[in-house]
Amino acid sequence: MNDRYSRQILFQGIGTAGQEKLGKSRVLLVGCGALGSVIAEVLVRAGIGTLTIADRDYVEESNLQRQALFTEADACEGLPKAVAAARHLGLINSSVSLNAQIVDVNAKTIEALIQGQDLMMDGTDNFETRYLLNDASLKWNVPWVYGACVGSYGLCVPMIPGKTPCLRCLMEQLPAPGSAPTCDTVGVIGPIVHLVAAMETAEALKILTGNAALINRKLTGIDLWDNQIMTMDLSQAERLSGCPACVERRFEFLSGEHESQAQMLCGRNSVQISRSTPRPLDFGPIAKRLASVGSVKCNDYLLRANVEGFEIAVFRDGRSIVRGTRDAEEARRIYAKFIGN
Ligand SMILES: [Zn+2]
Repeated sequence: MNDRYSRQILFQGIGTAGQEKLGKSRVLLVGCGALGSVIAEVLVRAGIGTLTIADRDYVEESNLQRQALFTEADACEGLPKAVAAARHLGLINSSVSLNAQIVDVNAKTIEALIQGQDLMMDGTDNFETRYLLNDASLKWNVPWVYGACVGSYGLCVPMIPGKTPCLRCLMEQLPAPGSAPTCDTVGVIGPIVHLVAAMETAEALKILTGNAALINRKLTGIDLWDNQIMTMDLSQAERLSGCPACVERRFEFLSGEHESQAQMLCGRNSVQISRSTPRPLDFGPIAKRLASVGSVKCNDYLLRANVEGFEIAVFRDGRSIVRGTRDAEEARRIYAKFIGN
């Protein structure tokens, strides 16, 4: 082992044996935005073996305030985040094998990505993908670390198949679209991104170096603006009796049952996003949040918002039409960004 990792090897919890394990480890990072940027950098500097970066988005100027891997040149070029990230990470540590995947991680694509991985890291910005990661983690027995932040608040929970409660034990149902704030409606500050990424990567280092006993068995939530730290002890928590995912092993998100269905609307420069499980929506909170980023019109039947050059029309049952694109993946991205999930 060369001098590069000397300070990490000196650290008692890792040592030479831990460093060797790290060097052979394979990690899948799902989502390389704000959290993903920091997670990727920390793991690559730490000297993991292989990092697969899966992301469906491209770099925009508005990302630069918090997405620490990217530069003005990346935004200017509109580079896919996976590609821009791999370029920068390769300059940081050329000994790590980097695999950039420009892909929407969904029920159809997750299986190929997860094979052979030792760990999945959550760098996503939506619940639908997290529920998918939860199913995939359980089905293929790959631990994952949940992390999320919005505004000045963030939280982290490591999830180890068979050992800890799973995401559906903690939150059985996918929250209704539009019910949770997103970074695109209420904003986010840089410090909480780094803090959540720090919590996530500390757990990753423990998992990858075989420090299973030290994995944090608490859900930790922190608000850096209101100076609040909240923890929920999960060490004694039982898995939810009858949990559809970890107890009954019904992987509804892997089967695509819950996935948004995106469909191009012929000749209209529009894509319809429908849900296989319709959920009634409350327009009030959605309209309020969207009003801060664009113009919003609302009647009894649908809400329309003009944002980033697109018009999103959302119906009461959650169905949506995104105008201004014929690309189903782009429409899904817009829907997830502004309506959520
Ligand atoms: Zn469960």
